[in-house]
Amino acid sequence: MTELPDPTAMTQRAAALAKIRELVGARGWIDSADGMAPHLREERGNYVGVAAAVVKPGSVEEMAGVLRLCHGAGLPVVPQGGNTSLVGASIPYEDFTGIVLSTGRLNRIRDLDPVNNTVTADAGCILQTIQQAASDADRLFPLSLGAEGSCQIGGNISTNAGGVGVLRYGTMRELVLGLEVALPDGRVWDGLRGLRKDNTGYDLKQWFIGAEGTLGVITGAVLKLFPKPRETVTAVAAIPGPDAALRLLGALQRETGGGVSGYEIMTRQALQMALDHIAGVRDPFGQVHPCYQLIELTGPRVDGSLRAGLEDVLAAAMADGDVRDAVISESGGQDRALWRLREAISEAQKFEGASIKHDVAVPVSRVADFMRVATAACEAALPGIRVVAFGHVGDGNIHFNMNQPAEGWSRDGFMAEQPRFNRIVHDIVTDMKGSISAEHGIGRIKKAELAHYHAPLELELMRALKAQLDPKGIMNPGKVF
Ligand code: ZN
Repeated sequence: MTELPDPTAMTQRAAALAKIRELVGARGWIDSADGMAPHLREERGNYVGVAAAVVKPGSVEEMAGVLRLCHGAGLPVVPQGGNTSLVGASIPYEDFTGIVLSTGRLNRIRDLDPVNNTVTADAGCILQTIQQAASDADRLFPLSLGAEGSCQIGGNISTNAGGVGVLRYGTMRELVLGLEVALPDGRVWDGLRGLRKDNTGYDLKQWFIGAEGTLGVITGAVLKLFPKPRETVTAVAAIPGPDAALRLLGALQRETGGGVSGYEIMTRQALQMALDHIAGVRDPFGQVHPCYQLIELTGPRVDGSLRAGLEDVLAAAMADGDVRDAVISESGGQDRALWRLREAISEAQKFEGASIKHDVAVPVSRVADFMRVATAACEAALPGIRVVAFGHVGDGNIHFNMNQPAEGWSRDGFMAEQPRFNRIVHDIVTDMKGSISAEHGIGRIKKAELAHYHAPLELELMRALKAQLDPKGIMNPGKVF
């Protein structure tokens, strides 16, 4: 991102910054080091960037006005929502000279239509606020992920967020009906249509979903709502491995008519770390098993039929050897304790030294092959490495992480091995026609990997779209490609 010190351009940028400050006023302008710090730091501290200011427009018109000024002066912009990206997409580079443009003050729910089953929200609405608004209207907004208390819906859309509800309801992309976008030149595209059917040419909203802020700033969205489930049953099954997990999923989907709303696999190594390090996490079984399957079913009736169906499927799977043991929750408290087993894994990994992480997807039918082949390859490449694999097995999305060996390695020494392990894991994923980024995006962490694995024609088409919408290259420069 090195720029030549052109005095005219510098004067233009200084003038643009002054005009932006005037436009957004004191409430929308932060330039003190303390005030900017939370916007310039990735939450794990992996990236710390710089910026001339953090700008928080109070309306869509202000957002557009800021972009118009940036476009005119060639001032670069890093759009930012809740800043919970895990790939460095929302943090400016260390030599950045532009602004961070936050959607945080655009936080109104504009409309909720229970007949159309849609909610229209500003981009800066916190995900949990939207979930709550849907629930208050006896509806479900199904996107659910770890950062839901602080991430913003605009960021969820810009990164095509996944999470734990994808198996039943799809990724963010499938939950968006319409978008409003402030384009890099300051024009606003109003595509806030709440239609299930709309065959009027190119589907423009798809350009901006998952674009990580490189094509414009999403300012509002029309989102799909669903009937609110009445009953939830949660269970954990001890299983011999991922093959059994997929057979069990098929049986559960048949029995419940597609009622599986959560389906998370955990290897023993992954569960063990949670048991060793996270207070209150307890092994639900008396014996050690190779693998565990968290199951959540939801349904429209409170008549015990969901639970009875689950018991039938588990009993049949036990007879077939696909399930060795199982616990079914008796209460909401127990539901949460079972989910905690899964949620504690990422936290627990921090206590076991450095970890190299991969967020990958393969066709669901290849998940078991992937886990077997990739685990063997990594263990052969570095004896003692601890593979921690878990995640959304029903989506084919595995968080394939690995911790440094228990002895004999420094943190930095192990992290220096990351490119070697990226190549091993991503080569296997690519051989299986999978994805090197299932739900976290590209940001800056995976830029080189995207360039390595994506076909030249795919990259060419992406660059053409970028050049068309953002000819001056001011939007989130240096991210994605
Ligand atoms: Zn995940």
